Amino acid sequence: MAECKKCRKRNWNPFEDICSDCLIDVTVAKTKADGAAERELAQQETDLAQQELDAILVTTAYTLQGIEVTKYLGVLGCYR
Ligand SMILES: [Zn+2]
Repeated sequence: MAECKKCRKRNWNPFEDICSDCLIDVTVAKTKADGAAERELAQQETDLAQQELDAILVTTAYTLQGIEVTKYLGVLGCYR
């Protein structure tokens, strides 16, 4: 019977180089890392969306001196 390449204990799992306990540890660590990466990506998307929102100028003026308008979003309605 082979030994686990991670903990060096006897490996009863014929399908892996590492034992079941180490396989669980590795899987849990990978799942946590994936979750952290997903949260980081979601945070980056949120930050980007906030930057875009912050760049929107809301005004009732017809002209804006010294400001280059890159896109008109049209008439917005406010409801309370
Ligand atoms: Zn092990």
